[in-house]
Amino acid sequence: MRFDIFTLFPGIFAGAFDESILRRARETGRIEIFLHDIRAYTHDKHHVTDETGYGGGGGMIMKPEPIFEAVESVLGTDPATRPPVVLLTPQGRILTTQIAREFSQLPRLALICGRYEGIDERVRALVTDEISIGDYVLTGGEIPAMVVVDAVSRFVPGVVGDPGAPHRDSHATGLLEHPHYTRPPEFRGMAVPEILLSGHHAKIERWRRNESLRRTLERRPDLLARAVLTEEDRQALRELGWQGRDL
Ligand code: SAM
Repeated sequence: MRFDIFTLFPGIFAGAFDESILRRARETGRIEIFLHDIRAYTHDKHHVTDETGYGGGGGMIMKPEPIFEAVESVLGTDPATRPPVVLLTPQGRILTTQIAREFSQLPRLALICGRYEGIDERVRALVTDEISIGDYVLTGGEIPAMVVVDAVSRFVPGVVGDPGAPHRDSHATGLLEHPHYTRPPEFRGMAVPEILLSGHHAKIERWRRNESLRRTLERRPDLLARAVLTEEDRQALRELGWQGRDL
């Protein structure tokens, strides 16, 4: 899968894609990441990419011309043949596992990073989707773009060593994941739950599922309203005292 990221600050990305899983994914060609410097698409002497906004008020607004030129020269001028173009904005739909999984089915995805007070509204004419990474405001779209690339890449086949892992992780199943333990079996008086050392796979699976339900109930009970639950899950939740949906 190919990502094209349009940014005023390509240097911010140094490091994030150069270590660990994403580095390996790039080296093996599972993903490709192209950074496009919006400033390179200006034609004036000072390479101006932002100006004060019409109507007053503080803050600088990113000009539309360099963004249009960058996107059109990299992705083409025909919107029908362009890959989806995502604007990172706190006003977009909030990134979820479901969205990340859908994006991972695409051969190519473009991301536009805003800065300053935001972008000229006319840039939205280039955009096919708007994504937020949460209900807070960051200084720029670069970190959100990294978040999108990372979350999407995990669903690209071959990127994560254990192909089932992204589909078992928190949120993928509608629940939070169960706790994990590794060696040693006891650390500073804290023991690994006996069941995990038992080698009894069916019992371990049930324990994990129950812990997953317990965690979700304690931390994110809102998720339970949408989770797919078996009769055994409902029984476990009843025992945990949940009074929610259909129980
Ligand atoms: N004035 C804008 C508003 O209130 O909607 C916020 C601008 S923010 C300071 C600058 C840029 O950071 C945005 O254009 C966007 O690209 C990015 N950004 C900030 N918070 C974000 C979030 N939660 N999700 C995605 N992008 C975000």
